[in-house]
Amino acid sequence: MAEVLSPTALTLGDIRVDVLDAGRLRLDGGAMFRVVPRALWERFAPPDEQNRIALAMRPLLVRAGDEVLLVDAGIGPERRDGAFLARCAVEPGPDPAEWLAPLGLGPSDVTQVVLTHAHFDHAGGLVDADGAPRFPRARVRVQRRELEDAAEGCPLCRASYVEGDLAPLRAQGLLDPLDGDASLAPGVRAVVTGGHTRAHQVVFVEGGGETLVFWGDLVPTRHHLRPHYVMAYDLYPRESWERKAELVPRAVAEDWIAVFYHDPEVPLARVRPDGRGYRVEPLA
Ligand SMILES: [Zn+2]
Repeated sequence: MAEVLSPTALTLGDIRVDVLDAGRLRLDGGAMFRVVPRALWERFAPPDEQNRIALAMRPLLVRAGDEVLLVDAGIGPERRDGAFLARCAVEPGPDPAEWLAPLGLGPSDVTQVVLTHAHFDHAGGLVDADGAPRFPRARVRVQRRELEDAAEGCPLCRASYVEGDLAPLRAQGLLDPLDGDASLAPGVRAVVTGGHTRAHQVVFVEGGGETLVFWGDLVPTRHHLRPHYVMAYDLYPRESWERKAELVPRAVAEDWIAVFYHDPEVPLARVRPDGRGYRVEPLA
């Protein structure tokens, strides 16, 4: 079973998991909830005067066997221009070195970085202010089709991919793309869901008889558990709907622990049914 060490740390058998803090940002509430009317979402996600709602960025660190895996990496605010930072009300979190030092690790201890997808708010933290890879030994595990879409500049999502996030990794030979579902370490696997992007993937960690799921942007906050609560940013909203309709009931039935990357309040929780929707039960 899972042993909860703090609101952001737990063990699953021999596997240690820590939820990290990569800061905050604000995005348009209407875009975050697509067809859901503001009259519904503003009750649980109050917008500011620019209609933006508060969001977190919470990478995950997983230590499994000899592998140290970082899952998603924040926005890399040092390399963004002021207008962009203001538009998204970015509040930088601790420097990534400070994510690792309290855990007794340094940047070169990370062996793999897993990206659910390559959007700026997930991949940006991999490159430092000087344009150098921040985790110099880490192979970057992202779906090959995701890299193709990022490179080809898909017209609908041009603003979401930033070439400078990936180019230094490519130049250093750190990109180690995946072709479909993959085992990454003992008890750690990536599963392609699509939906948000063509090759978006989620990460499962299994140990001690428990399952943890890192949803990425399939379920960015606890308010996106219901299938039709899909972001307008999703390129394949019907696919998001289908994957959630399949996976969220399993999360309930099998008592999974869920990580919500963008949830401003709840980093880790179990999912419970609640009328026609769901509620979460935070750990610790
Ligand atoms: Zn995101």
